[in-house]
Amino acid sequence: MTIKTRFAPSPTGYLHVGGARTALFSWLYAKQQGGQFILRIEDTDLERSTQESVDAIFEGMNWLGLTYDEGPFYQTQHFDRYKEIIQQLLDQGDAYYCTCTREELDTIREQQKANKEKPRYNGKCRSVDHSSDLEAVIRFKNPEGGEVVISDLIKGEIIVANKELDDLIIARSDGSPTYNLTVIVDDMDMGVTHVIRGDDHVNNTPRQINILNALNATLPYYAHVPMILGSDGARLSKRHGAVGVMQYRDDGFLPEALLNYLVRLGWSHGDQEIFSMDEMVELFDLKSVNVSASTFNTEKLLWLNHQYIMNAEPEHVAKHLKWHMANQEINLENGPELVDIVKAQRERSKTLVEMASASHYFYQDFEEYDAKAAKKNFKQGSDDVLQQLMDEFSLLDVWDGEKLHQIILDTAEKLELKLGKVAQPLRVAVSGAGVSPAIDITLSLLGREKTLARMLKAIEHIKGLG
Ligand code: GLU
Repeated sequence: MTIKTRFAPSPTGYLHVGGARTALFSWLYAKQQGGQFILRIEDTDLERSTQESVDAIFEGMNWLGLTYDEGPFYQTQHFDRYKEIIQQLLDQGDAYYCTCTREELDTIREQQKANKEKPRYNGKCRSVDHSSDLEAVIRFKNPEGGEVVISDLIKGEIIVANKELDDLIIARSDGSPTYNLTVIVDDMDMGVTHVIRGDDHVNNTPRQINILNALNATLPYYAHVPMILGSDGARLSKRHGAVGVMQYRDDGFLPEALLNYLVRLGWSHGDQEIFSMDEMVELFDLKSVNVSASTFNTEKLLWLNHQYIMNAEPEHVAKHLKWHMANQEINLENGPELVDIVKAQRERSKTLVEMASASHYFYQDFEEYDAKAAKKNFKQGSDDVLQQLMDEFSLLDVWDGEKLHQIILDTAEKLELKLGKVAQPLRVAVSGAGVSPAIDITLSLLGREKTLARMLKAIEHIKGLG
């Protein structure tokens, strides 16, 4: 049997981290089992679905590297097939037309509530032929007795009595199919073997199983993934900050770091925290997914991101940093290779936004000095220190980190100053700030021209302080 999983988002917003985690679990399971992963866009809600959201889903999947083997399929292209199945259910006597009005349904519900019964459709139209009524909806004839047993791969056995389930509407009065119908038709037609999805769908599962049974279809395995909570214990939502996947890109996260974070959110393998993609594929298992909800922890995500920034191939980090530099409108033409920036900055950067922001001065002149750093380091006499350094630097025929470093040491010794009293004014002069990579690295990355010009400017600035 070929394992097939799917991710089936409704395109009514961006791809959020909850969806991304479900997609990741489905993707990992398919990869690990040598199976196939399908992307299916559930766009039958014409009013709420937008092309923009479809594009946002593609963008998110693409950024995360969650490639699909089949699809993207669009449910709006399957309307004929849904009609066919609805007709089949009608012909078999497993579905019927219903003309109950909203008022009637409300009355039934009120009565049931008053009798302390669970509100459900009472099956009034079951035995009447309303097929010629244009206003009629179509309901699935749910089995009246017995129970549905779901052997959920995460939650374990879930048993629901059929008397708890009412006759679900499978087609609206305009003939359009509803979610529970479309999802089972596609899962069946596409040969989905494992339905891995959010546990907000757990209540739909017994209904879907009943329809699949009526169609004599092979049932898929189900795995319902518990939800993600914000730090306050409420379901993760916009008010907890970023929830859209692309927001994490914008905030300077590496996709691998987010994936690593997401795989650990509700799944564990011993106490291992860092997993390469290969390890995730090898080790992931549905059995070890937590049964209870998980809490999103931004600090931990930041920690992971820093680990990835420090340990990933600098070329890879540079590729992502390039996007941020462009986003911050930094022209990279007149400056060092980004890969060298990554090597110089990765220890001190938790995000790529931080790394990019702290690297502008390698490519363009800064407008002003950081006030605190300038106050502390530009003192009377600092101009002389800078002048002496500059004289020596100018004599170098090769702009070399080691030689620059030696000059700084020698100058400090000659002037009988602590190293910091020489290196710090120099750092502020060339970077505008009090922190930068090691001074010799900073100077070699900046190059001769920018370094000397900025030193000259700083000397004038300090002189001007009077
Ligand atoms: N389209 C549904 C949603 O976005 C998912 C359906 C499913 O996974 O069965 O919630």
